[in-house]
Amino acid sequence: MDKFELQKLRDLPIEGVAERLGLEVKMHMALCPFHDDHHASLSFKVSRNTFRCFVCGESGGTIDLVKGVLHKDFLDACRWLADENNVIVQEFKVQSSRIQEKPFDASRYERFFERPWLSIEARKFLFEERKLDERVVRWCRLTSWQDKKGVNWLQIPYYNQEGKLVGIQNRNLGFKKFKVQEVQGSISNCQLSTVNCQLVPRFRFPQGSQCSIYNLPILKLLQPGEDLYITEGCSDCWAMLSAGHKAIAIPSATLLKPKDVELLSIVNCQLSTRFHMFPDRDEPGERLFLQLKELLPNLEHHQLPLGCKDYSEYYLRLEI
Ligand SMILES: [Zn+2]
Repeated sequence: MDKFELQKLRDLPIEGVAERLGLEVKMHMALCPFHDDHHASLSFKVSRNTFRCFVCGESGGTIDLVKGVLHKDFLDACRWLADENNVIVQEFKVQSSRIQEKPFDASRYERFFERPWLSIEARKFLFEERKLDERVVRWCRLTSWQDKKGVNWLQIPYYNQEGKLVGIQNRNLGFKKFKVQEVQGSISNCQLSTVNCQLVPRFRFPQGSQCSIYNLPILKLLQPGEDLYITEGCSDCWAMLSAGHKAIAIPSATLLKPKDVELLSIVNCQLSTRFHMFPDRDEPGERLFLQLKELLPNLEHHQLPLGCKDYSEYYLRLEI
């Protein structure tokens, strides 16, 4: 099996692979096959085509999922995926087209962003941890709320180019990247609330949310020939804006819809925008750059320094 074949297997839709393996995937979550799971703890990150369990910490891509669930070694897992290739792609396509999502109801949410309110947790995250510029946070109309379980969420509105609200991403502010077992030894009340936040997913989207390109309203402010930075995800976009650059964020090249691609090409042609990118210092980051470079041939590559895995980390280093 050559490199190209292998990449094809890695690029099979992870949720389609999970379903072919018998897991029931709902809202990007499933019961974890790696531990005795009773609440869906396995989460799928479609933009990176990976899975991760909030409880046992198992993580990986399509091949790892097959290895783990079917107890196969690497080569056998690849063979299985190659055999199932067509079935996975076809069934997953049929299923995705069957889901008729209700459209996003902007009128229900618009008022939250008219007078944004930031909780202590949100302010801590945005201004202390991320050291973002207050003007950027205001421009992005970030707001916060607490749900009935006491989980603090940062609410991130997505607008289209005309400034119309088209989707919302909720980010769980209690979510930290450590394994639950590490704190289970001595759970105090305060730690327990941290653990509860851990079991809630990191991101949530109201029904029908269209969260593809982030910060589209900035395009209206773009002068001909100006620089525009493309980041992966909104955190890096806030850091880029705080550093004084005009920026938009994309979830991933594979998630870009034809109309998003068209929009970027129009900006490219009409404004002769100079596109820039600091890809994440990992393989998916570089792959995303190459995919975007095909759409935007003048996209310029900038290398993050060693020890900075993404632009947010680099920005923090610049701020110190
Ligand atoms: Zn697990």
